[in-house]
Amino acid sequence: MKVMKFGGTSVGKPERMHDVAALVTRDEEPKIVVLSALSGTTNSLVEIGNSLAAGERGAAKDQIDKLNAHYQNFISELLVTKEAKDACRVIIAEHFEFLNIILKISFNEALNKDILAQGELMSTKMFSCYLEEKGIDHLLLPALDFMTIDTYEEPQIGSIKVKLSQLLNQHKDKKIFITQGYISRNARGEVDNLKRGGSDYSASLIAAAINASVCEIWTDIDGMHNNDPRIVQKTVAIEQLSFDEAAELAYFGAKILHPASIWPAQHYKIPVKLLNTMQPDAKGTLITEEAGSVGVKAVAAKDGITAIKIKSSRMLLAYGFLRKVFEVFEKYRTSIDMITTSEVAVSLTIDNNSSLKEIIRELEAFGTVELDKEQAIVSIVGNEIGQTEHILRKLFESIADIPVRMVSYGGSPHNVSLLVPAAYKTKTLQVLNKGIFGLD
Ligand code: ADP
Ligand code: ASP
Ligand code: MG
Repeated sequence: MKVMKFGGTSVGKPERMHDVAALVTRDEEPKIVVLSALSGTTNSLVEIGNSLAAGERGAAKDQIDKLNAHYQNFISELLVTKEAKDACRVIIAEHFEFLNIILKISFNEALNKDILAQGELMSTKMFSCYLEEKGIDHLLLPALDFMTIDTYEEPQIGSIKVKLSQLLNQHKDKKIFITQGYISRNARGEVDNLKRGGSDYSASLIAAAINASVCEIWTDIDGMHNNDPRIVQKTVAIEQLSFDEAAELAYFGAKILHPASIWPAQHYKIPVKLLNTMQPDAKGTLITEEAGSVGVKAVAAKDGITAIKIKSSRMLLAYGFLRKVFEVFEKYRTSIDMITTSEVAVSLTIDNNSSLKEIIRELEAFGTVELDKEQAIVSIVGNEIGQTEHILRKLFESIADIPVRMVSYGGSPHNVSLLVPAAYKTKTLQVLNKGIFGLD
């Protein structure tokens, strides 16, 4: 059994949904098809939630009506017969009724999660209507019946495995299962989600839970590229990556994969393929345990980073100092991305500022604390990077004009990370594209 996940753009137009149906019926292997919301829908739902949180019900109503109109047009083009269209409109109307009821009740964060879930609920139901009309046998598996996260918002892979296998066992005759990406139930049993871009994570968790033959991530580009195609003009697809390389790229900003989406596949040894819905026969990227080759494969960048420097003369020759620093971050459940030390100071970076005030207050007990906000981490990723000929020379020559704040090398053999002011992110990615990959 395999997993096929289709992202927002892949289901974002009626004709694309038709293509998706063709792709899922291309072979006989049983499959779980994981769908995102239609492109733009989750952004609209976020806006609706924001309007409601700000008490702007009129604005929220306009946003809901606009979204509804989009779905009505979509259904007109997705389906052929009047009966099928009417049946689908009834199903979708329930979701818009729900959104309209929310307008009238008092808003809270749990309700916001319900709003955000509507996108995937609707895309999967519309796709099911299309398969139904085409006479393609399938079953809709509600993700809320098996995808759960614990109090720390971590997916509960053991329970996902048990619940999913029970559901699949009840329907042994089916070959095509459709389910929602992104959405989950939390420890309180409420509707929740795996954070933006989370459908990749859903797919990988499902693939791990069912021990899938492969986890296919179908998107709008032909695989992982050597650099961010939104920022750099000339980029090329990478044919093969190791789990470690892919995880570093996803974590350090390659939007094609959700940051946490590699670990379940890696842990359960499920190969991952990144494929292009618009060019289904393009090679794409295969991600497995082996790296395939030695050397730099790609660079990626992650925004919204804060650097914290703790300077203390007492650190001189003091053991236990770093432990105390790390304990502060542990206490506030804030993970550290980069770290560098000198004899009297330690600099580290975080991407989650929600407990920044408290963290700084506690760190000030150890010495002077300085902050640099609006930084970006640029990561150069590849297998055994240090063995790539002249890589460090090329790297540092190309960034000669960039005000680099921190450098981290040696933590893993797959990564060199630079911290630069966010304003220099684009330039850094561009100079590295030329300096390391020879691409302009
Ligand atoms: P989906 O909706 O299918 O999940 P996403 O928009 O989340 O698609 O991810 C695909 C996008 O990721 C691409 O269109 C591309 O702009 C962006 N991207 C960023 N970095 C990379 C990279 N290194 N390789 C490929 N795509 C990347
Ligand atoms: N629809 C969600 C989002 O836009 C999840 C996803 O597409 O992966 O973030
Ligand atoms: Mg995505």
